[in-house]
Amino acid sequence: GPGVTFERVTKRYADGTVAVDAVSCEVTAGSFVALVGASGSGKSTLLKTVNRLIPPSDGRVLIDGVDVSEGPAWQVRRRIGYVFQNVGLFPHLSVAENIALPLRFERRSDPARVEALLDTVELPRALGGRMPAELSGGQRQRVGVARALATDPGLLLMDEPFGALDPVTRDTLGRAIARLQRKRGLTVLMVTHDMAEALLDAERVLVMEGGRIAADTTPAALMRGE
Ligand code: ADP
Ligand code: ADP
Repeated sequence: GPGVTFERVTKRYADGTVAVDAVSCEVTAGSFVALVGASGSGKSTLLKTVNRLIPPSDGRVLIDGVDVSEGPAWQVRRRIGYVFQNVGLFPHLSVAENIALPLRFERRSDPARVEALLDTVELPRALGGRMPAELSGGQRQRVGVARALATDPGLLLMDEPFGALDPVTRDTLGRAIARLQRKRGLTVLMVTHDMAEALLDAERVLVMEGGRIAADTTPAALMRGE
């Protein structure tokens, strides 16, 4: 997957709140980075500058050296998988249709791909025909991850992806994503308020405080108490 560079990225909301304050940072291609920190520290805002859901007020975000603000947003987003904080499945579409949605935008129709994606997130293929309301919370979350992976993006952004999950589902999904990262060189940027989660999955942990990166560290260093 591609590398991501934040160059003095600042986001000032209309009410004057500075959510992200001149953050500079390099996310190495193919790495798994967790953004941790208290609620309101700016994690989600920083993440959303990458796929242009939130344009920075100042500074730039580069993907493989190219400014994400260049060109049409769809062109940037087709290479980026995004797992929403609240999953965001379409309730009137089946599980299979939800997963295939990003493929339809690209005029690709591929039932075998949908089945492979269900396998990846360890959901039974038979669930493809169900509606989102007929799934458990954990199953819905896995469908959200499968959809984010549909176009085989090089970069995966996840906003509190394991929010409401029981520990077993959380581990399964975390391991599935870590496997993709290792096997296919997927670059993963994950927002979480849960330090334990960051320690389990990520290779590098960025701790945010008041819109800045207060610490840039690794799970090993954190566990040694550094
Ligand atoms: P986190 O993801 O760490 O919880 P956020 O990026 O959501 O943090 O928020 C960072 C700060 O920006 C918080 O103070 C939050 O209240 C504020 N904020 C977030 N979205 C908006 C918005 N649309 N308008 C004004 N302030 C916002
Ligand atoms: P989890 O522990 O993953 O949150 P649940 O206890 O919520 O699981 O659900 C267990 C099983 O019940 C799952 O296989 C799910 O598909 C099924 N299920 C949950 N809600 C519904 C529903 N509204 N209609 C049909 N099946 C459901």
